[in-house]
Amino acid sequence: MPPKKLLTDAAGHQALSRCEARLSSIFDYGITGICFADLEGLVTEANEAFLKIVGYTREDLSAGRLNWRELTAQEYRHLDDYATEIMNVTGTCAPFAKECIRKDGSRAPVLFGAARVSGSEKELVCFTVDLTEYKQAEEKVNYFAYHDALTNLPNHELFKDRLKHALLAADRSERKLAVLLIDLDRFATINDTLGYVTADQLLREVAKRIVACVRESDTVARFGGDDFALLLTEVNRPEDAAKIARHVQETLSAAFYFDEQELFLTSSIGISLNPDDAKDAVTLLKTAGTALNRAKELHGNHYQFYQAGRTTKALRQLVLENNLRSGLEREEFIIHYQPQVNIQSFQLVAMEALVRWEHPALGLLYPAEFIGLAEDNGLIVSIGEWVMRTACLQSKSWQDAGFDPLRVAVNLSARQFQQPALVESVAQILKDTGLDPNLLELELTEGSIMKDPNQAIRKLHELKAMGIHISVDDFGTGYSSLNYLKRFPIDTLKIDKSFVKDINTDPDNEAIVSAIITLAHALKLNVIAEGVETQEQLESLQMLKCDEVQGFLFSTPLSVAEFTALLAERLTIGITKDYNTTRLPSLVNVLQHFR
Ligand code: C2E
Ligand code: CA
Ligand code: CA
Repeated sequence: MPPKKLLTDAAGHQALSRCEARLSSIFDYGITGICFADLEGLVTEANEAFLKIVGYTREDLSAGRLNWRELTAQEYRHLDDYATEIMNVTGTCAPFAKECIRKDGSRAPVLFGAARVSGSEKELVCFTVDLTEYKQAEEKVNYFAYHDALTNLPNHELFKDRLKHALLAADRSERKLAVLLIDLDRFATINDTLGYVTADQLLREVAKRIVACVRESDTVARFGGDDFALLLTEVNRPEDAAKIARHVQETLSAAFYFDEQELFLTSSIGISLNPDDAKDAVTLLKTAGTALNRAKELHGNHYQFYQAGRTTKALRQLVLENNLRSGLEREEFIIHYQPQVNIQSFQLVAMEALVRWEHPALGLLYPAEFIGLAEDNGLIVSIGEWVMRTACLQSKSWQDAGFDPLRVAVNLSARQFQQPALVESVAQILKDTGLDPNLLELELTEGSIMKDPNQAIRKLHELKAMGIHISVDDFGTGYSSLNYLKRFPIDTLKIDKSFVKDINTDPDNEAIVSAIITLAHALKLNVIAEGVETQEQLESLQMLKCDEVQGFLFSTPLSVAEFTALLAERLTIGITKDYNTTRLPSLVNVLQHFR
């Protein structure tokens, strides 16, 4: 029935072209990226949306430069492989998320799906939805879950997270961690007077200033209100944390300006240390809070450690560290000299130069309080040079005054020994002061020699060649290998006072001392015991054939005036072979009448 067929053809045709029109609208105007590709992935046709998502042009497409598989970022390509395998079996794959690399190199997060074109063995159709905006929104939500919206600093949540990670890392190293809680003094009043808009501005400014006080590896957080927190990860000593606390307080005490109005702030800080005060995040924060409360009780502008005693100690150390350089410039350092005597004859054979600091406010300070600080900030090199120069000068001037020449022993810190110009600087000092190199002895610890044994051997040989004596201080406490000991050009081993202390009560210590003396003699070295305080100790050392002794039994370290008197005494009365060990000529006793 031709008429009916005609009608059907016409309707079919119409339906077909409507269908085509609809499809091409979807293709041309849809927001989903659509492309057709062959089985190798080469894109043969693509809509505008697709080109826009991946950032390529129609020319790139015509030139055959677009391959959907190659657009995929490397770490997602296994997902494409998997989808292709599924498609080979079922003809389609479930949509999945991946990232494409745009033409300009940036990344486009997308949702991707593909299917075989029906009726064709060799053609695929791919659908790509741009997730960029969605991801950005998600990141923003995430960001504000962990950051403070006002200052953009990490919030309490993120701070705790970082603290936990830092604790794990600190567990594996020697370092300490410090948590500082910072609170602005009188902030409630400021808030009331300024109004919250200005107060917010102030908090933003405070955040910036605190951030500028610390390293990038440290975390600054705002817990809300005027509560800020600091996590310091590179703390060697409590003073390091105190230093930052002071720095923060100083920085915050500089004027803030709002609408030409000057505003001054002070702050209180509580400090807690890991592992000393707490080992876990919660307790660290709690102890820092306790310390903060104590700081607040002091009515502002104070910091406090959780362990109260530490605050005063850290403060004192900070003062000392700040005064070290000026102390050196203002010649506040002095040297005391401690006699070293022959163990049999009690003849004075040498002296050890020991530095002290006459601090204008704190009185006479001993090396234990400041040598460590000087080592940390490098001033030990200048201080050590000053000691050596002054000791050489002093020794020379005693000679010039007519006293018998005496060797002077000077302590060298590890850092000083490692100076490349050490040998030159020693030579220069000897030249300037005119002291016979034979009369200078350098005391080094095992630690400073063993830091770089090969370099040490070279330096020691150079010093030795000049005629200088070398002794190993605190011997027995370090880790010298016997093998090296043989190769070092050393003159003297100095037995550490910790072994001497218990020589009569601890058989192990006596055995160690005995072994050191035997070892020294086998290597043809001189051996001296330090820290000899009692007659019993002296007798044991005599029995073990130690060569020389130094300690309070004979004399404490003496000022120049005292030592001069001692030398004069020796010239007139002489020290004395006639005394035996039951009638010890303690130089301390000898000296008592002119103290
Ligand atoms: P050290 O080299 O082991 O010095 C010996 C220390 O033991 C001195 O303490 C001395 O006063 C003390 N001492 C002496 N006899 C006795 C005793 O019978 N009993 C006890 N208990 N102690 C005794 P000082 O002067 O406080 O020096 C401490 C450390 O400071 C020295 O230990 C040395 O390592 C360092 N030091 C001192 N002066 C200098 C210096 O000019 N440069 C460097 N780098 N370090 C120095
Ligand atoms: Ca010493
Ligand atoms: Ca020593």
